[in-house]
Amino acid sequence: MLDRLKDAIRSKELICTSCSKKIEEGQRFTATLTMPSEKDMLVSRLDNAIARTADSVVCERCK
Ligand SMILES: [Zn+2]
Repeated sequence: MLDRLKDAIRSKELICTSCSKKIEEGQRFTATLTMPSEKDMLVSRLDNAIARTADSVVCERCK
């Protein structure tokens, strides 16, 4: 439970699935998401939520 809380406030790096570069602050990116079930709809930082549910994250250059 505590680990889950820590995970919710810790920043998670978003990596481009195409070029493996980190998505930097202020950078645009495209993410393909699968709608999670209601019970998995946890409130957390946006980057964590995306990192957890995204099928793919693509940076501006690789789009
Ligand atoms: Zn890329």
